[in-house]
Amino acid sequence: MKKLILAVFTLTLLTTACEKPKDEITEPETVADPIIEQYGYILNDFNVIRDTIRKGDTFGDILFANGVSQEKIMEVATKFRDSFDVRKIVVGKPYVLLNSKDSLNQTQVFIYETNKVDYAVVDFRDTLSIYNSQKPVRYEDREASGVITSSLSATMEEQNLSPFMADQLANIYAWTINFFKLQPGDRFKVIYTEKFIDDTIPGGLKEIKAAYFEHRGKPLYAFKFSSDSLGKLSGYYDENANNLKRAFLKAPVKFSRISSRYNLNRRIKYYGFKLRPHRGTDFAAAIGTPILATADGVVTKSERRGGNGNYVKIRHNGTYETQYLHMKARNVKVGQHVSQGDVIGWIGMTGNTSGPHVCYRFWKNGKEVDPFKEDTPFSQPLPKELHEQYFANLRPMKEALDCIAF
Ligand SMILES: [Zn+2]
Repeated sequence: MKKLILAVFTLTLLTTACEKPKDEITEPETVADPIIEQYGYILNDFNVIRDTIRKGDTFGDILFANGVSQEKIMEVATKFRDSFDVRKIVVGKPYVLLNSKDSLNQTQVFIYETNKVDYAVVDFRDTLSIYNSQKPVRYEDREASGVITSSLSATMEEQNLSPFMADQLANIYAWTINFFKLQPGDRFKVIYTEKFIDDTIPGGLKEIKAAYFEHRGKPLYAFKFSSDSLGKLSGYYDENANNLKRAFLKAPVKFSRISSRYNLNRRIKYYGFKLRPHRGTDFAAAIGTPILATADGVVTKSERRGGNGNYVKIRHNGTYETQYLHMKARNVKVGQHVSQGDVIGWIGMTGNTSGPHVCYRFWKNGKEVDPFKEDTPFSQPLPKELHEQYFANLRPMKEALDCIAF
């Protein structure tokens, strides 16, 4: 017994922090006819017909064609409307017929998939029964990494990662990284939770639990933290428990580029090189791209006027206001409260403009200033009382992140 303990101890010493216990490989048992269970039925007991609702299909037609009597169809249509309304079947939705394996090939069970998870069951056997149910959903933690060659979304695609991951990552780092200024060689690692339906069908990204982004050689960690103990709190913090959320977003458009900076000494050829100061920052993006409020606030202007075209102005506090010009269309009204990241309009070419962009103007105490030269205020750090809990959660996450290879 003693020997065994010693042997295990030595083995532990030899494995480095990043090594993982290897999964034992077992030969899969070869069974002639594996039992397949789905929707709570053993599918092997039936002739399984899978199809989708087509244009012109009715519940009655499908089932009548599969040997179900008109009486039973009428009974479903009239008596069980609360659990399954046959009139509300939608073209394109999948359904499954479990038919008898005898020569009649008659439908015993009809299953209609309301969405990826929810389904309705009509069981015609014995006494008619109708109910709604859900496929089992499982969450699995996964890891990924990538090196940027052109754009974040292109790298995500190369790595077969969900397109939502680029969006989530951009949201997490929106306050610290200019995503339109990513450099080739910038790289990232993520630990995320993926949803699986019926154990194997990928149901998409649930959330990023921890991330590491190296921008111009500078490492930036992000750890998701939620707590209910001191009021509702949820967000991403760095390895020192600093909030990654600043009071202002770095840009009012995701994935765009700055086409013209704030420049008081700008001279334009078109105007005979006369001084035409530019008191905004232009972000170029395709027409129709959403324009986001860079901070919480109240809309003070939403109108179409002269060279500004369609524009919105937001007051954030006693000091700061922001303004967004040349919109195709506005999405907010004067007096409306907006949250950071809300879509307030869409990129357009209204007013004085030579191409689709938003002219973003940043006001401090009534004067237009360059937001990129301003020390924009940070939002609240994580309260001290939560630090112990935060760092206990962080340690294994950071270790796991550091162990992911590029
Ligand atoms: Zn401008």
